[in-house]
Amino acid sequence: FEGLDVESIRAEFPILEREFDGQQVVYLDNAATTQTPDPVVDAMSEYYRRHNANVHRGIHHLSQEASERYEGAHDRVAEFVNADGREEIIFTKNTTEGENLIAYAWGLNELEAGDRVVLTEMEHHASLVTWQQIAKQTGAEVEYIRVDDTGRLDMDHARELIDDDAAIVSAVHVSNTLGTVNPVSELTDLAHEHDALSFIDGAQAVPNRPVDVSEIDADFYAFSGHKMAGPTGIGVLYGKRDLLEEMEPYLYGGGMIRKVTFEDSTWGDLPWKFEPGTPPIAEAVGLEAAIDWLEGIGMERIQAHEEELAAYAYDRLEAEGDVEIYGPEGGPDRGGLVSFNLEGVHAHDLTSIMNDHTVAVRAGDHCTQPLHDKLGVPASTRASFYVYNTREEIDELVAALDDARQLFA
Ligand code: PMP
Repeated sequence: FEGLDVESIRAEFPILEREFDGQQVVYLDNAATTQTPDPVVDAMSEYYRRHNANVHRGIHHLSQEASERYEGAHDRVAEFVNADGREEIIFTKNTTEGENLIAYAWGLNELEAGDRVVLTEMEHHASLVTWQQIAKQTGAEVEYIRVDDTGRLDMDHARELIDDDAAIVSAVHVSNTLGTVNPVSELTDLAHEHDALSFIDGAQAVPNRPVDVSEIDADFYAFSGHKMAGPTGIGVLYGKRDLLEEMEPYLYGGGMIRKVTFEDSTWGDLPWKFEPGTPPIAEAVGLEAAIDWLEGIGMERIQAHEEELAAYAYDRLEAEGDVEIYGPEGGPDRGGLVSFNLEGVHAHDLTSIMNDHTVAVRAGDHCTQPLHDKLGVPASTRASFYVYNTREEIDELVAALDDARQLFA
C-alpha cells in the first residue's frame, strides 16, 4: 500500500498542535480514546445547528430529518462491518454496554448451573467482570483460555474448554494490553461446533483494520465510536438478527415498544427494541462521519500504518535492553500498541516523566488486572498509535526513557 499522507491527516486535528510548556503534544494514548478530525466535529456541529430534533419519526420536518440521519447511520455502520442490514446494528453507549446488553438480555435468561462461559485471560474488564457477575447470578462457571509466554492464546486449551458445556465464548479481537490479534474466526467456529454462541470485543480492532462480521461469523460483536475517530457516547453492538429477535430487551422505555396497555407491552422492530429512550443522535451523525473519514483513507492502509509503527516501537524499545515488552513481536499478530515496563521504574513514574516531555501514554492495568497479575507486574506503560502518529513521535518516547533512568533507576 501507498503510505499515509500523515502530514495532511494531522492538519485535520487541531488538538495535535497543542503545546504544553512550549512542547507540542505527542499523543500516544489512542487505545484509550482517539482524537476527532474536523470533518467529524463539523458534522456534529452542522447537525446541532441545522437539523436537531428528537427522533422516532415525529411528524414535523426537523424530526423527520433527525430520524433519517439517525436511522441512516445504522445503515452506514452495517455496511462498514458487513452486517445484514440496520436490524443487526444496535447503538449503545460504548463497548462495555454492548457486553452488558448481551450478558443481561441473553446470559441472565439462558445460562444455568453446569453451563460454561469461556473467556480469555486477556479479556478487558468490560467482558471479564460482566460475565463473572452474570455467572454468579446464574450458577454458570467461567473459564479462561490461557495466554502463553508469547502473549498468544493457547488454542489447545481453547479446544479443551470449548466443549458441549460451553454456552458462550467471549473473546477480545485485539488485546488492549498485549496488542495480540486473536484468531476470532477460529474461536467462533469452535463455539459453533459445540452449539455455543460467540461474542467478540472489537474495541481495538474496528478502529484500525477491516472487520467483516459476516466473515468472522460472530453472533455478537461490539465496538466504541470514540476509539475510531468518532465521538464519545456512542458504541455499536452487532448481533445476528435471529438471535436478537428471540432476545428480550435489556432496557425498557419509550421508542422501543409496539403496543402498551396498563397490563402489558410488546416490543418494536429491530434494532429499536434495544434502543429505548432518546438515543445518541448527534453522536450517530458523528460516527457516520468518522466511518466516511476512515474509509476515505482506507482501512487496509490504516492497518499497515499501525503495524509499521507498532513494529518500529517494539524494535526500538527492545533495543534499549532494560525494557520488558508484553505480547507478540511486531507483525501481523500485533495491533497498533505496545505495553512495557522500564526496569526499576514504576509505570506511573515513567508515564509522569513521559508527560514532562508532553508524550501522552497511559500507565496502569488497562482494565486487565488479572492479566497483569499473571504477568507479575502491578502496571505497565502503554503507547498506542493511530493514523496521525509518526516514527519521530516514537523516537521522542524512547528518548524520554533516559530521564526516567536517571531519576528513578
Ligand atoms: N474492550 C477493549 C479491548 C478495550 O480496549 C476497551 C477500552 N479500553 C473496552 C473494551 C471498553 O470500551 P469502552 O470504555 O468504550 O466501553
